Amino acid sequence: MDDRGLQVLVVGQPANRQYLSGFAHRDETAGASAGWIVLTDREGFLITTSLYYDEVAMTVQHLEPVRAERRILDGLITLLSRLPGAAVGFEASWMTVDVHRQIAEALGRAHRSLVPSDDLIGRLRAVKDAEEIDILRRAIALTDRVYSEITRWIRPGQTEREVAWQIERTLREGGAEGMAFEPSVAAGPHAAVPHHRPSDRPIQIGEPIWIDMGARLAGYCADLTRSFCLETAPPDFLEAYDLVLRAQRVAMDGLRPGLDGRDGDALAREVITQAGHGDEFIHSLGHGVGLDIHEAPSLGRSSEDVLEPGMVVTIEPGVYRPGWGGVRIEDVALITVQGREVLTGALKQPVLFLT
Ligand code: ZN
Ligand code: ZN
Repeated sequence: MDDRGLQVLVVGQPANRQYLSGFAHRDETAGASAGWIVLTDREGFLITTSLYYDEVAMTVQHLEPVRAERRILDGLITLLSRLPGAAVGFEASWMTVDVHRQIAEALGRAHRSLVPSDDLIGRLRAVKDAEEIDILRRAIALTDRVYSEITRWIRPGQTEREVAWQIERTLREGGAEGMAFEPSVAAGPHAAVPHHRPSDRPIQIGEPIWIDMGARLAGYCADLTRSFCLETAPPDFLEAYDLVLRAQRVAMDGLRPGLDGRDGDALAREVITQAGHGDEFIHSLGHGVGLDIHEAPSLGRSSEDVLEPGMVVTIEPGVYRPGWGGVRIEDVALITVQGREVLTGALKQPVLFLT
């Protein structure tokens, strides 16, 4: 905050707020906020409404709980107006235009300004401590276990939606507090869409299928993608599978502290491009994962994020062909002092045989 010339920092993005306080509510917009953290160089507050005040007062030890008497935004403005300092940092990517306008008008009357300061907490969150890594390991192990169960259970004729529901049910029964994101199951031509939403289309023998899934545990997200065909796989699938797997291995081997996101992405992209399929790898290589499913650092063509020990990233190259389908293989890796440790243990099998 000092470096940026900020005297006050306002934090409301749910994962940032949970990181600083432990308060785990996930509100959907800044306009419907469940609470704002306000920090100065010597004080910290968590302002919330009557709905959450008791929870905050009982569970958050190091921030002073403040109860907003009417609208939480009025309470936040009142709190800010009694704190000193001309520059107030805020999360531009979380705050809505409407909320920003109301705060800016109130502060402006006192000649104070709002300064975008998104990356302040994001950079802290990018490097995980031992406790966070332990939670991530458990979320990933649970996800691996459930994937293995699904491979024994999945059958041709089941719809994408049925498989997705079975994944969700098994994750929750296995102890997940929720989903890191809605499980995605894509089969046949649907597998050409990287963020496909499961449909009522039955899955079939011999077509490309991928599953993207992750447990949420104590706030932290796992992220796993596996591709396969049921019973038998056509040669073009096996070729695409080998290419994506090779790209993933090369990228995994090359990850180390000091590498930037662009160069990380290029490791896998070069392998796929050299094989003549560069235009089919239509997304980034990977992303940081933690309290949010997508967070810093990014491994993508324009990312200047630099890898550091303690960062946790996905490595997920893929190729997609409209009308045919696609292949994506995704593991999670922890950046270590020496290089990387792969945290994912789920088997990689291009063909699942029905038993
Ligand atoms: Zn994923
Ligand atoms: Zn991912």
